[in-house]
Parts: sequence; C-alpha cells; structure tokens
Amino acid sequence: MSRFTALRKGKCPKCETGKVFITNGNILKLKGPIMHENCPHCNYKFEREPGYFYGAMFMSYGITMAEALVTFIIIQIFNLNLSVDGTMGVIVAVILILIFPNYKFSRILWMYIFTRKEGNEPTTK
Ligand SMILES: [Zn+2]
Repeated sequence: MSRFTALRKGKCPKCETGKVFITNGNILKLKGPIMHENCPHCNYKFEREPGYFYGAMFMSYGITMAEALVTFIIIQIFNLNLSVDGTMGVIVAVILILIFPNYKFSRILWMYIFTRKEGNEPTTK
C-alpha cells in the first residue's frame, strides 16, 4: 500500500496497517470520531506528547477554508442566484457536514507529516 493510500484509508503512520480511528463519528447523533490511543497493530502511541494534535487544528482550519472557497466557487459557476444569506447557509451546511471527516483527516495528515514509516527511521551512528 502506498503512503498516500494508507493516509487516505486512515491507517497508522508507522505500520500502515492498524486503523487510527475506532469510529467515524455521527453528526446527527453529535458524536465525534473516537481515536485509538495506540495502534492496534504495532502499538505505536499516536499522541506523541501532550498537545501534539494542536497543530492539526490549524490544518483543519486550512482544509475547512479551502472547502468553503470551493463551495463558493461552485455556487458562482452554476449561477444559483442565491442571496448572500443563502450562499452563507450553503457554505455553513457544507462545513458542518464535513466537520468529522476534516477532524479525522487533519489529525491523520499531521501524524503522517511527523512520523516515518516503520523501517525508514534514520540510523543514529
Ligand atoms: Zn501501527
């Protein structure tokens, strides 16, 4: 499995086999995704230090803004004749629908940026 495929499927950044999240979350039940503390396959600890996922919050913000921009552009391209409030409503709805996928993707992407695959660690000699 390529690194990109493992990222997309939400696999552990170390072994690319164990799943990072236990549940996907459900926006209708207001239940967020639940994350494993350690990889169920290789026991890699996902949260390296307290506040490790603080940076993932900024990734999530960037992804959300990109989605809002894409939604706005789609509304303009298809010339939906929405009012300013209607346009904002559609953008907010898209952001709310994608809130949990964004949360998961930003955390997984954050880990992939700072974790090398098993066997690819630099040698310390
Ligand atoms: Zn693992």
